[in-house]
Amino acid sequence: MLKKPTLVDSFDRPITYLRVSVTDRCDFRCTYCMSENMKFLPKRDLLTLEELDRICSIFIRLGVRKLRVTGGEPLVRRDIMDFFRNMSKHLGRGLDELTLTTNGSQLSRHAVALSEMGIRRVNVSLDTLNDEKFSRITRWGRFDQVIQGIEAAKTAGLRIKINTVALKGFNEDELLSLVEWCGRRDFDITFIEVMPMGDIGNMARLDSFWPLSDVRRRLSKAYTLVDLALSTGGPARYVKVKETGQKIGFITPLTHNFCESCNRVRLTCTGELFMCLGQEDRADFRQLMRAHPEQDEAVAQAIHQAISRKPKGHDFDYSRHDVVGRMSRHMSHTGG
Ligand code: SAM
Ligand code: SF4
Repeated sequence: MLKKPTLVDSFDRPITYLRVSVTDRCDFRCTYCMSENMKFLPKRDLLTLEELDRICSIFIRLGVRKLRVTGGEPLVRRDIMDFFRNMSKHLGRGLDELTLTTNGSQLSRHAVALSEMGIRRVNVSLDTLNDEKFSRITRWGRFDQVIQGIEAAKTAGLRIKINTVALKGFNEDELLSLVEWCGRRDFDITFIEVMPMGDIGNMARLDSFWPLSDVRRRLSKAYTLVDLALSTGGPARYVKVKETGQKIGFITPLTHNFCESCNRVRLTCTGELFMCLGQEDRADFRQLMRAHPEQDEAVAQAIHQAISRKPKGHDFDYSRHDVVGRMSRHMSHTGG
């Protein structure tokens, strides 16, 4: 029997999906995400693994059915596999899905263990298939290592979705080869529009903005794209390639309004709950949890209160000369 959702916001949207950033650190420095000399948070500011476990478990008790672990790079956090193991115990007991978004660099080491814990799917970010371009966009990443990680995940039986940020002048020429590369391996692929998050140094983000309407237009010259009704309650829209059966997603937070069906909230690595990726309103759970180490009810109540403040929609918009609704937070802090 379906459990009745208990977390419902003031617009009647059930909140069933929690994305949690477990670290702001990363072994890459993707140019659209971080500056090269990123300053990371001191350890004391981060939720401990025990605190993460506690708050995620409360969310699951309140009706969250899907948990995505992200970052920064989640697999670089020390002892993170213990956290995955603990969360996996909720699978089938309230939690339907435990998953992660990763840059793939540590997947070779962890894919088998993740699969054994009951993780079925993983999102791996990959913006190019070219070794030299990969080094350029990630600054510190090693292409071979990521490809090996992806292969290890596939061998371990994990279903793979590739996330590709669409970047004008960078991967425009690889659009078809990326789709075909994924198709041959039975991977899904989702394109993401670059978002105005955080100060990333001197990269001109407006110059790299490539609207997915254009990505889609170019794809439809090569394939027949059939719209899928499928919605995951987020910004992604999906199509099926008629010729191959492959699924392609488009995440267009800047050109498409997806908020009416939004089912998610985001917890940062410092314990701030953002009810909307594109708004600054947040609720601090680190202080609350440290003030009430034994009283989960106080935390549950604060979660209800925060959810009731979830806004109707977001403010992102690119105008010609500036970015309206630009967020000062980095994606790696909030969790992409
Ligand atoms: N490190 C992991 C990874 O790269 O998959 C997880 C965290 S990363 C912040 C999550 C996703 O956000 C990645 O797919 C990344 O490409 C995307 N991302 C980061 N900064 C972005 C930005 N400014 N606009 C759009 N997507 C961004
Ligand atoms: Fe790291 Fe992911 Fe950000 Fe790249 S996108 S710098 S891999 S957190």
